[in-house]
Amino acid sequence: MKKIGIVTSGGDAPGMNAAIRAAVRLAAWSDIKVIGFERGWEGVIRNNFRELDSRSVSGILHLGGTILRTSRCLEFKTREGLERAARSLAEDDLDGLLVIGGDGSIRGAHELSKLTDTRIIALPASIDNDVYGTDETIGFDTAVNTALSEINKIRDTAVSHERTFIVEVMGRRRGFLAVEVGLTAGAEIILVPEVEYDEDKVLKTLKDNAAKGKRSSIIVIAEGVGKTRSLAEAIERKVGVEVRVSILGYVQRGGSPTARSRFLASVFADKAIALLLEGKGDAVVGIQRGEVASISLEEACRNQKQLNLEVLRLAEKLAI
Ligand code: ADP
Repeated sequence: MKKIGIVTSGGDAPGMNAAIRAAVRLAAWSDIKVIGFERGWEGVIRNNFRELDSRSVSGILHLGGTILRTSRCLEFKTREGLERAARSLAEDDLDGLLVIGGDGSIRGAHELSKLTDTRIIALPASIDNDVYGTDETIGFDTAVNTALSEINKIRDTAVSHERTFIVEVMGRRRGFLAVEVGLTAGAEIILVPEVEYDEDKVLKTLKDNAAKGKRSSIIVIAEGVGKTRSLAEAIERKVGVEVRVSILGYVQRGGSPTARSRFLASVFADKAIALLLEGKGDAVVGIQRGEVASISLEEACRNQKQLNLEVLRLAEKLAI
């Protein structure tokens, strides 16, 4: 193991820089050279990279985003794009490639692994937490805490003005963020793409809450449900209360990573470098029931992580 590459791909997540830093410094302990590809898979296809050493990753641990930048790269989904990327890895003489990214990036890593001898290891980093094989992704905890602190402020206004707020959080396909944020923010109602949307049930809950003396409510809705505006109108029309909509948007992606996100970045990098030193590739590292673990790229791509519906039920119970 003499030389490895690092690429950050897909949606940025807080802690990607912490993972880059940890990987570069752990590689240095074993005299492994590191290059960092620029702008996600695009950089691998075009073979755009910079050399990384322990000093070049100073001062980035606390920064959100990724110093290598990232992209969504359509060309990488084509056979030609994948072949060009595989050629770059061969030209650069890379023994290993660390892919720091979410579900889509890991799918890309799996496709690329079929065309190259370079050992590929993925470090799950995504605010969506939707990667099979790890209980938690790098960046998820930061996004939860960012959304939570926004909702704490919204709650002040909701209570003072006796209003209902609908807070839309990120999650186009999955509701992990909405559930964790909703539970910890004490949301009265949580709506996720995994559970069939039932407007009448929402309206009934709000009416019941009003009858119980609740004068304000917060509804956390994942963007993927796609009903934010229509629900606001329905509540105003049929429940007769004032509704405000707050779409949290991109603030959830950014910011300094929490201790938890930095911790995961460090132990994922440690596991990834250890696997490479053992001569292993084709892996997604993760944390399972508190233990650092790994599964194959194929297994991660074949399976879908399940949302824990018990947590949704718990949130419902607590919103009595
Ligand atoms: P994330 O990694 O955050 O889930 P995306 O889903 O946008 O973000 O995926 C990031 C990139 O990974 C895509 O822009 C594309 O280049 C690559 N990718 C995603 N799915 C595949 C696939 N099935 N085959 C090859 N590349 C893929």
